[in-house]
Amino acid sequence: MLPHLRYDKEVSVKRLAILGSTGSIGRQTLQIAKAFPDRFQVVGLAAGKNVDLLLKQIADFKPLFVYCPDKGRLNSVSPQFLSMEEMASHPEVDMVVIATSGKAGLSPTLAAVKAGKNIALANKESLVMAGEIVTAEAKLNNAHILPVDSEHSAIWQCLRGEKEKPTRLILTASGGPFRDYSAARLSRVTVAQALDHPSWRMGKKVTIDSATLMNKGLEVIEAHWLFNMPFQKIDVVVHPQSFIHSMVEFVDGSIKAHLSCPDMRLSIQYALGYPDRLPNPDLPRLNWDEIDSLTFEQPDLENFPCLSLAIEAGKNGGTCPAVLCAADEAAVNLFLSGRVKFTDIACLVERALDGHQPVAHPTLPEILAADAWASEKVMQLVGAKSCF
Ligand code: MG
Repeated sequence: MLPHLRYDKEVSVKRLAILGSTGSIGRQTLQIAKAFPDRFQVVGLAAGKNVDLLLKQIADFKPLFVYCPDKGRLNSVSPQFLSMEEMASHPEVDMVVIATSGKAGLSPTLAAVKAGKNIALANKESLVMAGEIVTAEAKLNNAHILPVDSEHSAIWQCLRGEKEKPTRLILTASGGPFRDYSAARLSRVTVAQALDHPSWRMGKKVTIDSATLMNKGLEVIEAHWLFNMPFQKIDVVVHPQSFIHSMVEFVDGSIKAHLSCPDMRLSIQYALGYPDRLPNPDLPRLNWDEIDSLTFEQPDLENFPCLSLAIEAGKNGGTCPAVLCAADEAAVNLFLSGRVKFTDIACLVERALDGHQPVAHPTLPEILAADAWASEKVMQLVGAKSCF
């Protein structure tokens, strides 16, 4: 849907609701909003556990609406308390930034698209778990899904101005910190090593997912839904320098690539400002003196099976991607708490997918049921020590 996207809801100042405002993407979104006060007004803020930071953000941006699960802590503030779904669909909100992590993003994403809001989407689970429902609702209600993830932003930018449908999407992957590790070495990876990503600063879950390549698999599924491309026409190539954020091949064999310093603020700003490119001196420029080479290699599917597991789950469709997401989330949490090894993450996800009875074209309750089943399944597998 994105190649034909027109921003037809132009207003002089875009009124933003930012869901997940205290996370990495949320904080960077606020930096962009602050840099362009004549362009953006923050009217809604929603956060999870970090209420101290949320209170600071409320004092700083003076939104009209706020949300956090611990309502009592917001008693002393003046903005109106709304649920994330109410905020995402409120008439005084022009654009909803979905920066919540995990499946908590799903319901507000649906509320926003059902209300015909344009959304800047950073939450992966919404499209991975419920891509069919979310994209159908967006189409029905003339809501546009603007990607915030650097790879999808790169593809979107490469498609701009093109009339023909692309023949191939090429997602780049940094390969994570363990690109050259042997299987034996991978099994000894510590949490601290896995959290030390070579090129991007991100939240914990996405950093571990980058190290296992699960993140790239989830991005392939998102690209499938965002750009309406069959899985066979989406490739992944490892590009460790992380300057090329993705590429698009066209019918004549031409390939367009999008390059920039790896900095999420650029793709956030592009989504917020679309259709305009905004001048921002805070964003870093590529320094060609410091770039020796741009290299590419095929992903190592044997040592990083999460990539294949994700693509397979995407191709199988139905409730499989929801099981993939939930099993991965549970397995990553177990790894972060020191209960399983790095290499057990893929094993647990595979076992959960193998044991699942998929439902085709699932409803939202069926998706959530598959999600709950998969989390439970992973805990059972760990309890029974089936992977180890
Ligand atoms: Mg990404």
